[in-house]
Amino acid sequence: MEHAFIIKPDDLNWATQNSLEAANIRSVPGVHCPNCGIWTNVGISYPSAETGSLDAVADLKTPRPVPLDEFKNILGRIQPVIGANRPLKPGTELGPLRGKASGKFGDFAWLNPWTVLVRESLWFDAHKAGIDLVGVPAELDFGKKPFESLLEIEALPKVQMFVEQPVPICELCGRQPIKMPDRVKVIGSTFDDSIPLQRIANFSTILVANETFARFIRERELTDVLLSPIEVV
Ligand SMILES: [Zn+2]
Repeated sequence: MEHAFIIKPDDLNWATQNSLEAANIRSVPGVHCPNCGIWTNVGISYPSAETGSLDAVADLKTPRPVPLDEFKNILGRIQPVIGANRPLKPGTELGPLRGKASGKFGDFAWLNPWTVLVRESLWFDAHKAGIDLVGVPAELDFGKKPFESLLEIEALPKVQMFVEQPVPICELCGRQPIKMPDRVKVIGSTFDDSIPLQRIANFSTILVANETFARFIRERELTDVLLSPIEVV
């Protein structure tokens, strides 16, 4: 039987003894759609994106909304660099995180509830346990009190959330404004339970752990993370 778990910050503890201010060094621009107006998606991040190759085809250093035609043109140039398995939306974050950090961190660290980092030593432990997380070292300035490296975990948008009422998709820009349901359920036929951490593709601020990763977190009593089981339908 498949088991899926939402993974999120332990709000009580995680940000009380530390601070993390950072941003991925490149991002896909927002779009100005004639139907929808200006919008960006929140949640998707590909820290492993090779920014040198991206810079050769587009300027992604200054995030700003662009007209729909220009947006499609930019996407046409960067999608082949990123690869077909990494879908791009307006506002998708690219490249490693860069910024400042201070204080003591637990096993998990969070830039926000949809951007998760782990201590480097934990990443190695997970790898040894057969949990292949894609982790990219964040370029963090810890000032005078160094701390071990934190790695941003790349979670690809894969599994689809079950949506009670169909939500129309904008035929021009692809926007599909889905509201957060009272109870999150994911669609079993879209859930690959071999992936330790994935993102809900049609609600990209939610991260989903598989049973193996969830068991690893629970058995080791890892800190600054919460798991809640979700229904697979
Ligand atoms: Zn639109």
